[in-house]
Amino acid sequence: MAKIGFIGLGNMGGGMAANLAKAGHEVHAFDLSGEALARAGEAGCHPVSDAAEAIRGMEVVVTMLPAGEHVRKVYEYEIVMTASPGTLVIDCSTIDVGSAEDVATMSDAKGLIPVDAPVSGGIAAANGGTLTFMVGGSKEGFKRAEPILSDMGKAVIHAGSNGAGQAAKICNNMLLGSTMAATCETFVLAKKLGLDLQNFYDISSKASGQSWSMTSYCPVPGVGPQSPADNGYEGGFAAALMLKDMRLAMEAAQASGADVPMGERATAIYEAFVEADSQGLDFSAIIKALEDS
Ligand code: NAD
Repeated sequence: MAKIGFIGLGNMGGGMAANLAKAGHEVHAFDLSGEALARAGEAGCHPVSDAAEAIRGMEVVVTMLPAGEHVRKVYEYEIVMTASPGTLVIDCSTIDVGSAEDVATMSDAKGLIPVDAPVSGGIAAANGGTLTFMVGGSKEGFKRAEPILSDMGKAVIHAGSNGAGQAAKICNNMLLGSTMAATCETFVLAKKLGLDLQNFYDISSKASGQSWSMTSYCPVPGVGPQSPADNGYEGGFAAALMLKDMRLAMEAAQASGADVPMGERATAIYEAFVEADSQGLDFSAIIKALEDS
């Protein structure tokens, strides 16, 4: 069992740190929010009062922060300053590939072992320990990170060198955002053509139009498996978070010169939806905007 520092105990990090403690690790947990710290204490972690305390003397440091700017700041001013050479540093946040590469370079220079390990799966998977991790880093980094990540997830996959985990995450979520937009507009068309939507689901879910967005997360209430659509589009994966990931994908496409017209169109749909939505609804709720337009 390892001594692990965990920084960022929000919607995702709270459950992940709790699962590490449950697996028997000694988890020194830090967040800027007192409430999040108290919850981590109740879940078996040792709450600490600053980031340095969650880093000093640890074998592993995990971060789960909102965006690239937070990760850069915590690495530059805290992790790189305090962690001892040989410490495995795992960033599980979803951030841009450039920031992931930069914090890895900074960490390498100090003799730390960096890996980026963004996750697929939402708050329920974080709490339930069933996340999928996409890992970027050296073979040694992956080998050391795998057992720790396995205590928080159901699958841990090595995607390549530093930054490759974020690249895989961004590509996966661009595909998810685009297939959800396509699934939503297809159901809108099916309805306008007079099809019974359950009947159309029964056909398309067994035909070549099938996708995860349809069969695991159907955007139509009462059709397919239980999904946020059956709960007024509450819970699940907020459209604002999908927009964050789509924008990261658009940035990456521009930087790499990839042509992604479907991704661009889907990003515009989420942008318009998030601007108009005051309730923080699930990303599948874009079907409502498409129905109304
Ligand atoms: P969140 O906002 O709930 O949690 C982030 C936490 O980081 C907050 O508690 C905040 O106080 C803390 N924090 C910010 N700056 C800090 C600092 N300098 N030091 C210590 N703590 C600091 O966000 P979340 O939903 O847990 O998401 C975390 C990451 O996971 C994001 O990058 C997000 O894109 C990604 N993600 C989220 C989901 C989801 O369903 N929520 C799914 C997959 C991936």
